[in-house]
Amino acid sequence: MALTIEEWLKGLPKAELHVHLEGAVSPEALIGFAHKYHLDMPTQKEVLLSQFEFVDFSHFLRIYLLISTCLREKGDLKYVAREHLKQAAEQGVLYSEVEWTPNTLLKNGISYRDQVEGLVAGIHEGEDAYGVTMRLIPDVIPGEGVEAASALLDEMEVCRRDEIVGFGIGGPETDYLVEDFRGVYARARDLGLRTTAHAGETGGPEAMWEAIVNLKVDRIGHGTGAVKDERLMNMLKESKIPLDISPTSNLRLNYTKSYSSHPIRGFYDFGIPVTLNSDDPALFNQNLLDEYITMYREHIFTTNELKKLASASFEHSFLPADLRDDYLSRIASYPDFIGEPRTARLQPAENLTL
Ligand SMILES: [Zn+2]
Repeated sequence: MALTIEEWLKGLPKAELHVHLEGAVSPEALIGFAHKYHLDMPTQKEVLLSQFEFVDFSHFLRIYLLISTCLREKGDLKYVAREHLKQAAEQGVLYSEVEWTPNTLLKNGISYRDQVEGLVAGIHEGEDAYGVTMRLIPDVIPGEGVEAASALLDEMEVCRRDEIVGFGIGGPETDYLVEDFRGVYARARDLGLRTTAHAGETGGPEAMWEAIVNLKVDRIGHGTGAVKDERLMNMLKESKIPLDISPTSNLRLNYTKSYSSHPIRGFYDFGIPVTLNSDDPALFNQNLLDEYITMYREHIFTTNELKKLASASFEHSFLPADLRDDYLSRIASYPDFIGEPRTARLQPAENLTL
């Protein structure tokens, strides 16, 4: 019997390259932490979920930081890492590159070393239990200053682990000078890490130029602001700098009006490498599989194009070449979708505006 589109997309091997650990903690786990630490936050699921109706980015950040206060012990990190891998397996996600913000958790009294040990223990348990691989990208909030970022790199240098593959920055794009972080990024590269930066989400193309020219990033988180700068679009295409796109995140935080007006299709047609991501699945109530299903249901990508996007998610990962190629061969041998009629394509011109 032919598979439904949901079954086919679930079976399609996928990687997620842009997901935040703090934004992936399930409401049930958050309520558990609220009880455990007697936190001042809702302990009824409906009330908690009602807090996730975001009016703007600063509202989102407040909730994000509230969630960060729940993670206080090594065991908490182990639990959420393992939970993330369980959720990944349920969606047919085989590999997940997860960002988290160590300096924020440090304020809860948990050292960087304990954070890493907890996460790595959860990764090992989750990999054994669910067959999904997870790697880590510590990130910093640049508004906290270069010194805080340097202090994190000091810790990372002392406490090196193979599971840590990258370094990034996230948060508001306007309250710091990107060029101040040049040295921090150079040092991260010297430690053998790949690099990424949130840019072109809350800010425009300028932040993306800065990330590319000054920070020399391997990938850009979001990057939707590129639509306002054709020279930048050409540069992204020619330099093959991938954008981690999270359509639902952009929609919920009011950076795009609808899925059909999101620039992902325009970027794809223009030849800019893009991948699909959930960003903060628990906060947006939409996981990576849902993003793929939505792109099909909203007539933005065909099933064959979604297969190419799944391949792109491994191609642009920070995996070593042999593992990456192994995943890619699994996608190549995955049967094409048969059953429902193909989705119609939008015209590129329709979605190169925000
Ligand atoms: Zn993000």
